Amino acid sequence: MLAALSLAAACETPPPEFELAPPPQSPAAVNEKSAALPRAWVRVAGGPLTHPAMNAAVAEIKRLRLWGAMTSHLTRLNIRARPGESAVPQDRHLADSLYRSTRRGEGRVCRVTFYPRAMRDDLAKQRYYYSQDRLPVEPPTMDDFWVAILAHELTHCRDSGRTEKVALRVERRVLERLRAR
Ligand SMILES: [Zn+2]
Repeated sequence: MLAALSLAAACETPPPEFELAPPPQSPAAVNEKSAALPRAWVRVAGGPLTHPAMNAAVAEIKRLRLWGAMTSHLTRLNIRARPGESAVPQDRHLADSLYRSTRRGEGRVCRVTFYPRAMRDDLAKQRYYYSQDRLPVEPPTMDDFWVAILAHELTHCRDSGRTEKVALRVERRVLERLRAR
């Protein structure tokens, strides 16, 4: 239950800024588009600690062969971190995502924001509960936490199957696969 509580606060996804344009209609249109358009333009921001961590999370999701399915519909993906205690949201959620159409409606933009201070505190809490036998599963490492949370947030940047329930399931499965390495 504590795990559920902890994970339920994993993120806060604001509603799209405006209505998403419908996805391309016919398969032909999709093929044409994917042939003509480059892959998602990915920008990983962050400082000397967070930038490598986020890059590593992207590489790990690619290694798990989840990257294409999670990002191929995007035209732009921005990944950033807001370190420090002052950046942590009031409810101490760990990350955000924002998913919207581009202004002309022809593409999809996803922005993921991590709050590393909140992530570290949450992991410390999880480790404490685990040491007290109040968590059934050993908490992940910080490195794996970045990966699982990125997968969680990317799940919110989809046109369907983007609810918190689905995102938590994706997060759990990614952690299971990381543990099985
Ligand atoms: Zn979420």
